[in-house]
Amino acid sequence: MLADTLISAPYYHAVGKEVEVFEHSYKNKIPFLLKGPTGTGKSRFVEYMAHKFERDLITISCHEETSSTDLIGRFIIKGAETVWLDGPLTTAVKNGSIIYLDEVAEARPDVIVAIHSLTDHRRILYIDKLGETIKAHENFMLVASFNPGYQRGFKELKPSTRQRFIAVSFDYPEPKIEAEILVNETQIDNDTAKKLVAIGNKIRNLTELGLTETVSTRLLVDAAKIIHSGLPKRLAVHVAVVEPLTDDLQTLEALKDLCNLMI
Ligand code: ADP
Repeated sequence: MLADTLISAPYYHAVGKEVEVFEHSYKNKIPFLLKGPTGTGKSRFVEYMAHKFERDLITISCHEETSSTDLIGRFIIKGAETVWLDGPLTTAVKNGSIIYLDEVAEARPDVIVAIHSLTDHRRILYIDKLGETIKAHENFMLVASFNPGYQRGFKELKPSTRQRFIAVSFDYPEPKIEAEILVNETQIDNDTAKKLVAIGNKIRNLTELGLTETVSTRLLVDAAKIIHSGLPKRLAVHVAVVEPLTDDLQTLEALKDLCNLMI
């Protein structure tokens, strides 16, 4: 249970059937995989679901150095003795928390090996350094996200791993919903929210620019925040939306000119 049940629910605007799908995968103890580019509400969704089920949420942002030891635990030296310290995965397995492995494909391969026995009917975690096997608490759930390989620089997830999850794709919401999200997140006026969303969609459609990552909802939320706090709109769009996307001078200029016409 949450330590403080008075914590208000995180704001999450459903974009499809993801809430129902998650509920059923949780009830049936099937791990859940969120696929999609960065800034599309994946983390917010998991926070929302954890709150809905009144479970503690442990989030791990995986990167290329993340190892199974980081997740399972390690011996540490305390004074004159060596003591075992549970890692976040072990804690979640014991306490019945939801663990969210963000960008799991980025982690070292031993992480994938470590979670395999938790992602099938066994629901067990093997702690090799202790020679122990622990059965997951019935409330435990494994959730992971990954950014599909169509973008350069991102790693793939093997079919044998993917097929252990129920998977849902996350993408940018349709304009009406995205504008609502901006208004809700930042209290910006509706008209400016719509203009920001139009800018986002315009740039998303400029596939010929070959941007590694395009305009996420997160970037639009950031732009809306700094506009709401008083920064001139054009400057806000330049620094929150355009500059984070590219360092190419010509592309920067072209995108800034485009945005100036739209806000
Ligand atoms: P991801 O985990 O996919 O990188 P986040 O969950 O961190 O993305 O989302 C980035 C920001 O975008 C959130 O902080 C929130 O402001 C906003 N956001 C995106 N999608 C939604 C949504 N469906 N409902 C509410 N907020 C959203």
